[in-house]
Amino acid sequence: MQENGKRTEVLRFAPSPNGWLHLGHACSALFAYETAKELHGRFLLRIEDIDVGRCRPDYEAAIYEDLAWLGLDWEKPVRRQSEHFVDYEAALKRLREMNLVYPCFATRKEITDAIARSGIDPRNWPTDPDGAPLYPGIYKDMAPAELNRMMWEGRNYAWRLDTERALTKAEEIAGTPLTFVEEGEGPNGETGTCTVEPALFGDVVIARKDVPTSYHLAVTVDDAIQGVTLVTRGQDLFPATYVHRILQVLLGLPEPRYRHHRLIRDTAGRRLSKSARDMGLRELRAAGKTPADIRRMVGF
Ligand code: GLU
Repeated sequence: MQENGKRTEVLRFAPSPNGWLHLGHACSALFAYETAKELHGRFLLRIEDIDVGRCRPDYEAAIYEDLAWLGLDWEKPVRRQSEHFVDYEAALKRLREMNLVYPCFATRKEITDAIARSGIDPRNWPTDPDGAPLYPGIYKDMAPAELNRMMWEGRNYAWRLDTERALTKAEEIAGTPLTFVEEGEGPNGETGTCTVEPALFGDVVIARKDVPTSYHLAVTVDDAIQGVTLVTRGQDLFPATYVHRILQVLLGLPEPRYRHHRLIRDTAGRRLSKSARDMGLRELRAAGKTPADIRRMVGF
């Protein structure tokens, strides 16, 4: 979209309605909202509710209420991911046709057992940026006939990206090593043109048997469908950008720029979690705090 000959920036805040909003969310929402205003861009709100077991309508209603109370407004209708599974299914199908994903039947116990058998001290086994042990590759090289048999038997599985193959393919498509532009800062000061380091996540889960997507796939597809030009979010999600860049190239989607922001921490220096009640927007409001107080508390 054009405005005075310049491209209109599109930004979004994309919370998951699986808890009440806290100061960390207020920081993220205001960061996106104020940046959009500064750039004379558009601000979208997206509800990331693919985890139908954990997301609740009252949490979603509270998101609208809390953000409106903070003084934000956003374009309507709001995109709710649970209404768009067909879009993610189509993307997954493309990745399957490219032979870059494989079904993985491993239970958590099988993964722990495989790590125990590896001869490497489990405490030294590498973990991904979310703290989960890197996938030890069980089921990766299984014959297609055997994989099909297990799927027909009705066993539970997840679709994993064969990350090494996916990166090789993506680099072949792009004709260069993959990078992205960071306009803010990653958790280790990464800024400017950053090189994709996919090994950090290993063979990441891209979809599940019952839900044809994961956070990584849905966020990548949606940012493209919604024309997001500048992705803003907390630094905890900086490494996820490596996965998102690979998916963008494989799926032929446009490349947004990124601006990751610092995380709000509690008084003990810990990252806020959904259970951090004293930092909850509802609690703070009930205790008499105003939107201006909240802005000050998160640095706006
Ligand atoms: N839904 C994600 C969360 O609540 C944020 C997604 C994103 O900004 O990329 O943490």
